[in-house]
Amino acid sequence: MHKKLFIPGPVEVYPDILKAMGTPMIGHRTKDYTDLHKRVKEKLQKFLYTQNKIFLSTSSGTGVMEACVRNCSNKAIASFPCGEFGERWYQIALANGKKADAFPVELGKAIKPEMVDRVLATGKYDAVLITHNETSVGVMNPLAEIAVVLKKYPEIVFLVDAVSAMAGVKIEVDQWGIDVCLASTQKGFALPPGFAVFSVSPKALARARQVPNRGYYFDFVEFEKFDEKNQTPTTPSVSHIFALDAQLDKFFKEGLDNRFARHLKMAEICRKWAKDNGFTLFPEPGYESITMTTVNNIRNIDITKLNDELAKKGFIISAGYGKLKDTTFRIAHMGDTTPDELKELLVTIESILHANA
Ligand SMILES: *Cc1c(COP(=O)(O)O)cnc(C)c1O
Repeated sequence: MHKKLFIPGPVEVYPDILKAMGTPMIGHRTKDYTDLHKRVKEKLQKFLYTQNKIFLSTSSGTGVMEACVRNCSNKAIASFPCGEFGERWYQIALANGKKADAFPVELGKAIKPEMVDRVLATGKYDAVLITHNETSVGVMNPLAEIAVVLKKYPEIVFLVDAVSAMAGVKIEVDQWGIDVCLASTQKGFALPPGFAVFSVSPKALARARQVPNRGYYFDFVEFEKFDEKNQTPTTPSVSHIFALDAQLDKFFKEGLDNRFARHLKMAEICRKWAKDNGFTLFPEPGYESITMTTVNNIRNIDITKLNDELAKKGFIISAGYGKLKDTTFRIAHMGDTTPDELKELLVTIESILHANA
């Protein structure tokens, strides 16, 4: 039986999108392709409220995280991890031989604007890494407030991993001054994994032109050159782009504000369910993710067993990440998931817990 995915990536992909993915292939240097590419990038600009360039990457999101550190720093990078994915970005910077410092917070806590300001005021850094929604802990950082701080530092390139936030919450790239905003397709976009999208500002492109050893596959300067022809430097996953084209049409059909309201509603349903059922939430109050809910397992339920039972009913959720494996569990409500589908999952969990009590 297929298990409907309530894990924080990959998420459930609807049949119409899988069908779009199976569109007969076209050549990536043809007019058919450049028309498709142009259409998709214009829709993404509208979706991200930006005039910045939109690049399409045939890689998972981590590839673009690597691209960011390779292209955007000549001096030193300030990274602000609040969980595993932020920590990964810092490690990627080091693995690429970049100078980088990490300013982590305790798990469950968010990155606060004052803290970012204090670090940037040292004048040591030329790039900043922020994870919008830290999927390992279910914390959503106050990106709009952090963006206000970044405005004081025009020489610093503002890099945002929005993998599990984009397409679930409104991200105003231009108003917030985000220089690179990246996401892979298997989370909020509800497409299959293996593809990523990102916006790149003129400032980030200017920086890239001054950085030596940007590598080959993820060179922003090459992406820009091919963007002018509505192409990618290497053969892209055209199938993903077909699916993205169809999915973005669905987003606009639903209405962007309706879409964001649907996600907020699901978050509220899930948080209330947790509290009504004797659990508490893991993130510090006020910073709970909108696209997923991380629940403290204070009832000490066996999460593996719960998932075994859920599997029989056609669902799957996630245990906590890393160290939090047994003490928390995570329910994703991203992508095309509806409040009714989420309620169906929650009722099923309740009945399983009840039967085993
Ligand atoms: C899933 C995730 C990633 C990794 O994305 P991949 O597409 O697996 O490379 C990075 N950051 C965050 C916040 C994520 O949720």
